Amino acid sequence: MKYLLLIFAIGILSFAACNQNQAGVPSMAVAPSNANYEVADSGKGKYAVTKTDEEWKKELTPEQYQVLRNKGTERPGSGQYDQHFEKGYYICSACKAKLFNSTTKFDAHCGWPSFFAPEDSAAIEYVVDRNHGMVRTEVLCSNCGGHLGHVFDDGPAPTGQRYCINSVSIEFVKTPDK
Ligand SMILES: [Zn+2]
Repeated sequence: MKYLLLIFAIGILSFAACNQNQAGVPSMAVAPSNANYEVADSGKGKYAVTKTDEEWKKELTPEQYQVLRNKGTERPGSGQYDQHFEKGYYICSACKAKLFNSTTKFDAHCGWPSFFAPEDSAAIEYVVDRNHGMVRTEVLCSNCGGHLGHVFDDGPAPTGQRYCINSVSIEFVKTPDK
């Protein structure tokens, strides 16, 4: 009888464990939680700089429009800032908001400019991206909603983050050498 109870108890426990695992799967599929930023389910939609598609098309190059407004991705290694390590900062190429500083830029050998932190966390909007069979965190300019790239948790210290940014989404501004 004792054995029967034991087997019954193990059965219950393993059933509970299975349930826990099953419950764990969907939670893995939602936005990756992170201590450094919150990931929203969708873009906030309202931006300080708001323009129609026609206006953006006139102002941006076709490559910029494709990436910033249509969430495209430039070919790896093709961007002008991938291997660019001058001292200065990077602004949004659509609305000119300050986004990243060269002091946080590093070579991730991935073919895109990479930063371990933004200039100011408020400059970036984080949205879950479930396209292409993956769950990624998309990063947008919080001033105009322009698509910049994605952020991953495989970056260097001190943040452990890698902001993988399209060169066409940003513009470099050189700071004078002292
Ligand atoms: Zn912008």
